[in-house]
Amino acid sequence: MSLIIGSHVSFSKDEQLLGSVKEALSYKASTFMFYTGAPQNTMRLPLDDNLTNQGLELMNKNNIDINNLVVHAPYIINMANDKNYDFNVAFLKEEINRVTKLGVKRLVIHPGSHVGLGEDVGLNNIIKVLNTVINKDTYPMICLETMAGKGSELGTNFEQLKYIMDNINVKDKVFVCLDTCHINDAGYDLNKFDDILNEFDNIIGLDKLKVVHVNDSKNAINTHKDRHENIGLGTIGFKNLNYVVNHDKLKDVPKILETPYVIYEDKKYPPYLFEIDMLRNQKDNSNLVNDIVSYYK
Ligand code: FE
Ligand code: FE
Ligand code: ZN
Repeated sequence: MSLIIGSHVSFSKDEQLLGSVKEALSYKASTFMFYTGAPQNTMRLPLDDNLTNQGLELMNKNNIDINNLVVHAPYIINMANDKNYDFNVAFLKEEINRVTKLGVKRLVIHPGSHVGLGEDVGLNNIIKVLNTVINKDTYPMICLETMAGKGSELGTNFEQLKYIMDNINVKDKVFVCLDTCHINDAGYDLNKFDDILNEFDNIIGLDKLKVVHVNDSKNAINTHKDRHENIGLGTIGFKNLNYVVNHDKLKDVPKILETPYVIYEDKKYPPYLFEIDMLRNQKDNSNLVNDIVSYYK
């Protein structure tokens, strides 16, 4: 089977899912991820069924499987802070409804930051929210993302994610999204990815891994920064990222790039067409930035 790879794409007011599919196709992607509105806020427009259907049709024509699509919940939701409990629950319920209506099966969410409440309190707050919004009829797989450990972020190691998962009442709804930049920044050595996978399998179970975020990192291992870099230009490097993306044990898991746009003369250009090409052909590109700029300029 060919590689399931794509990037985050926009979900615009005017074109919604149809626009997301068009953007993904412009990168020659075989899947994609989007936010159902701006990632940094929770304003959400009603879904237009007509645009959804046109998007699904275009996906069909291009062999993009809806089951591999990913939605990312807005990152301002902080489930670990119980001060926001009512808002978090209300928004997440609505987000799950939107994702269900679109037919998207994978919903990625950041576990949250304990903001001084302490790790245990934070983790238990996350569990409380998830147990309120998840029930046996929940359609999407809720994928908790591994975090870099910036500030008081939780989900920075597999044990914390396992603790959350163990305390969810409906066990078969909660999964994991592994972000390569985040685990590097959290202290996992991507030069030894098989050891990471074994550890993941022992603690959580590899069958729980449902999304991989493929990002290089601007920072060294264990620095808890969370700044993404383009493929091959960071501290993780092409060789290691290519190994992750083309790993046999992950062949059914969608890989999503969240690497930064390239800035050139005050304009921003998406890197994904070229990064997907590198990973699909398993060939490093030392000319990445130039290639991107000259293609779009
Ligand atoms: Fe994320
Ligand atoms: Fe991510
Ligand atoms: Zn990140």
